Amino acid sequence: GKCISVCPVDAITAGDNTFKFLRDLSTPNKLVITQMAPAVRVTIGEAFGFEPGDNVENKLAAGLRKLGVDYVFDTTWAADLTIMEEAAELQDRLERYFSGDKSVKLPMLTSCCPAWVKFIEQNYGDMLDVPSSAKSPMQMFATVAKDIWAKEHGMTRDDVTSVAIMPCIAKKYEASRPEFSRGMNYDVDYVITTRELIKIFRDSGIDLKEIEPEEIDYIMGEYTGAGIIFGRTGGVIEAALRTALENMTGKRIDNIEFHSLRGWDGFRACEVEVGDIKLRIGVAHGLEEAGKMLDKIRSGEEFFHAIEIMACIGGCIGGGGQPKVRKNKEEVLRKRGDGLNNIDRDKDHRVSKENPAVQAIYDKYLDHPMSNKAHELLHTKYFVRPKRGHDHINDNDM
Ligand code: SF4
Repeated sequence: GKCISVCPVDAITAGDNTFKFLRDLSTPNKLVITQMAPAVRVTIGEAFGFEPGDNVENKLAAGLRKLGVDYVFDTTWAADLTIMEEAAELQDRLERYFSGDKSVKLPMLTSCCPAWVKFIEQNYGDMLDVPSSAKSPMQMFATVAKDIWAKEHGMTRDDVTSVAIMPCIAKKYEASRPEFSRGMNYDVDYVITTRELIKIFRDSGIDLKEIEPEEIDYIMGEYTGAGIIFGRTGGVIEAALRTALENMTGKRIDNIEFHSLRGWDGFRACEVEVGDIKLRIGVAHGLEEAGKMLDKIRSGEEFFHAIEIMACIGGCIGGGGQPKVRKNKEEVLRKRGDGLNNIDRDKDHRVSKENPAVQAIYDKYLDHPMSNKAHELLHTKYFVRPKRGHDHINDNDM
């Protein structure tokens, strides 16, 4: 049925890295670090008797350590870092636009979903300057881990094996893009999906229901509520607006839950008003809807200031590497999303720029968002790619 060119099939050839992971974990003196995407902690529990949406991040941390992982970090930390860059980029484009600069590229499109990035590279080669140039959280995490964290600990890139626990099959392909490597050393050595990790835990006799929870490692484990909502549709743009609008207005925003952006339609056109600023924001999940909207933007029929696009229905909570949902799909996905919203609501810090661990890395290494150093490490480029006829959509039907 659904067949629009989306999920990089080359991703599939990257294959299942379970064996590599287990071998690396059992190799003496090999240092293995993991990051886990926001959306994994509210789904993996389903395989161990938890409800969709239950946050099992601390059990996940314990399970990974039991497998032999040396440092259990969190992609969500880097989601906050992504927001620092993306919000600064959005602010820059908006301020130039509102001051009358007609050369500004709008809407700014989010860039953290690799299936979506590949889709625009294949189908909208004339629009490659509209997505944010910010790397995805997974790739930002991995660059910082190997180029900053490793060095700080007296190690080289080769000394660290960096594994990403992801809800997503397209992330395997993203990790293998040459711009995210130095020679043969990739920033992310490989990706393990939620489903693959479930199998690894089961085969190793690790039951998340039983295991005692443990803390995620500091410093690349500290995150805000804005970072965690990356895992559901609408969350990335909501997170970006929290920081961008506070920076633009110079004031703390009282109500940082942008309910106008939340919802379930395949494409949602929303208005966000803060002070004198009125923004038209789009949110798409599923590439078919995104494609239709991009056509209208290209023809000038529609205008938006920013758009979030996720290839999977529901966003990463519905990713192709997540536990399969056999019935009541929308209800299960909504519960997973609510799980992320609950984590957000419980956090003291809910705006990415308040993350002390993110502030620390700017103070020490990156100066400020969009600095030269930040550009060098945290931003990327896009390339026109030929269309492929038989790529599969990266959702639970895969
Ligand atoms: Fe991967 Fe889907 Fe999330 Fe995109 S929306 S990053 S394809 S899980």
